[in-house]
Amino acid sequence: MDYVEETIAKYEKYINPSQARLFRFMGLSSVEAKGEGCFITDTSGRTFIDCLGGYGMFALGHRHPKVVAAVKKQLDELPMGGKVLFNRPMADLAEAVARIAPGRLQYSFFVNSGTEAVEGCLKVARLATHRPKFVAAKGAFHGKTFGSLTATGRDLYRDPFKPLLTGFTHVPYGDLDALKKAVDEETAAVLLEPIQGEGGIIVPPSGYIASAIEIAHKKGALFIADEVQTGLGRTGAWFGVDHEKAEPDLMALAKALGGGVMPIGAIVGTEEAWQGLIEAPFLHTSTFGGGQLACAAGLATIEAIEEEGLIEKAAATGKFLKAGLAAIAADYPAVIKEVRGRGLMLGVELTKEGAGGMLMSLLIDKNVIVAYTLNNPKVIRLEPPLVMSEDLASVVLEKFREAVAATAQVIEEL
Ligand code: PLP
Repeated sequence: MDYVEETIAKYEKYINPSQARLFRFMGLSSVEAKGEGCFITDTSGRTFIDCLGGYGMFALGHRHPKVVAAVKKQLDELPMGGKVLFNRPMADLAEAVARIAPGRLQYSFFVNSGTEAVEGCLKVARLATHRPKFVAAKGAFHGKTFGSLTATGRDLYRDPFKPLLTGFTHVPYGDLDALKKAVDEETAAVLLEPIQGEGGIIVPPSGYIASAIEIAHKKGALFIADEVQTGLGRTGAWFGVDHEKAEPDLMALAKALGGGVMPIGAIVGTEEAWQGLIEAPFLHTSTFGGGQLACAAGLATIEAIEEEGLIEKAAATGKFLKAGLAAIAADYPAVIKEVRGRGLMLGVELTKEGAGGMLMSLLIDKNVIVAYTLNNPKVIRLEPPLVMSEDLASVVLEKFREAVAATAQVIEEL
């Protein structure tokens, strides 16, 4: 058996046979070996353009030299600390997060994933308000541990695990009247994504987030921004809420924060929201969270985004890519319903349910990695590294056009 077949056999036997089958069916019978910038190379030497960016984690691309150097240096000194003495990389990262974070967000607690960051925000909101209820949005994706799964707005992922937490209401995303009706004096927090990622790259009406914050505050509730996917430059601003100059009370971060090298997330809060944790700092703890290696990666990531002007670059490349996709959509209305998104968080909604998987397979055949959104398989998402050049984006557009043309032909023949 060759290396690839052996790997798939191990997946079938020790990881999950259905997952192995699905990957094979999608044309993904390939084992990744090396990443560099916007590219992933497999063990046969075949190179793919990474337009999925690890679901948004590769803001800096693969193995960004600054992050790799910071992590290597930290590895030789103290990768994980003793947890009892002060941790300088964590202090430096918390300071940097407070500097770039919107409004009065000041304190950070570091975790290892997006779902943990959301869980933490929910706990901190309960602690700060002593209230039981939360309002989230239909179609939302906040993670798959019990609290964040309860907040996630798709029954497919929720139903097999019921009973979930109590006290959660889901309102249509973008609908302020529905939100107003759902928030009351028992609401601890409203939890929203500035752009729904897995829901299908849904950009809300302008002013939605700022008004949602007002609605929450009027009832004495907090506002939690889930910036796990939108954060750190993805949308052409540091944070998704920055487009409206909105100021959340709590913010969940993860994905891009580790620079595509280390897993790290953060619960970030204002002084008021943090009061309960200030009084009792050990109410929320994590053995791995805030480890020196991950924090060194986080700090290097923020510095690299600043030094390389990646926020402006994401806005410009995003505009270019979106215009190119819109032109393809105009030529193939039978395949593409809409192109939407902001910065380098773009979604292409297809007209037909099964077309998402087909287009994804065709693009992978052409060495472009994309995927559909988890809560909406009709939407192909493009979330390439923010470092992607316009030249490479042009190549992506060329291949995208070819794949859409092939999809159009199949649809026509049906
Ligand atoms: N929140 C949002 C908005 C996300 O997009 C995701 C993951 O896609 C999560 C939370 C969960 O993050 P993780 O997969 O790191 O647990």
